[in-house]
Amino acid sequence: MSGVTKVFNGRKGKVEALRSVDLDIRRGEFVSVLGPSGCGKSTLLMLLSGLLSRTEGNISVGGKDITKPNSDLGIVFQQDVLLDWRSALDNILIQAELRKSPMEEAKAKARNLLRMVSLQDFEDAYPHELSGGMRQRVSICRALLHEPDLMLMDEPFGALDAMTRDQLQIDLLRLCSERDMTVFFITHSISEAIFLSDRVVVMTPRPGRIERIIDIDLPRPRR
Ligand code: ADP
Ligand code: ADP
Repeated sequence: MSGVTKVFNGRKGKVEALRSVDLDIRRGEFVSVLGPSGCGKSTLLMLLSGLLSRTEGNISVGGKDITKPNSDLGIVFQQDVLLDWRSALDNILIQAELRKSPMEEAKAKARNLLRMVSLQDFEDAYPHELSGGMRQRVSICRALLHEPDLMLMDEPFGALDAMTRDQLQIDLLRLCSERDMTVFFITHSISEAIFLSDRVVVMTPRPGRIERIIDIDLPRPRR
């Protein structure tokens, strides 16, 4: 991203959510974004996804300018967005249906992913039968089914208890190293950012800007 500015036309007038943001993320890198509420973290993520359009500046992913929603990436939000009337497995398979991928192959992949997050015995369970942490794991599996090169995560573990969060962090790091995935990860937790990331982007609000970028050089399970 270079010189990226985003201005919303809100009901109370214009809001400059981001001003002149420059950010260069390398392939395979895990980048966390920290900062107080309203500093533009979610806006940054939505711009990267192509679901939101910038006011000024350039954004490219994999060398290609973003002009429309990019279906090659995975997104996970703070609250899982599973369909109540579909089982865990069928929620993951939505990805395959949307892409018209071969269903048998997708099923095998989905079962592998469920095994990876220790939910192999819950493929037939419906969302209301699963805990918050389990539902979030299903959401992560769904975002991973098509093996995205880029994963965008907006406080994916924010609503979870500490034990579930610790387990999911480790699951995520393992998946990242196995797939050489690039991850853009929003969090409110400094320790989570330090544990997971190669670099931490610290933002400040009004207008949203990058205050600093910190390199983290710690041995990690994925190395
Ligand atoms: P958080 O602080 O947890 O990151 P927010 O409450 O800032 O989340 O934003 C949640 C969602 O509401 C975002 O998708 C954002 O685009 C939208 N949003 C935030 N502020 C406004 C606003 N003033 N007007 C309309 N939508 C907004
Ligand atoms: P964060 O994720 O860091 O909490 P956001 O990206 O949600 O921050 O919001 C950044 C700023 O932009 C906030 O002031 C928010 O109110 C504003 N904003 C976000 N989305 C909208 C929107 N759709 N309309 C108007 N203002 C918005």
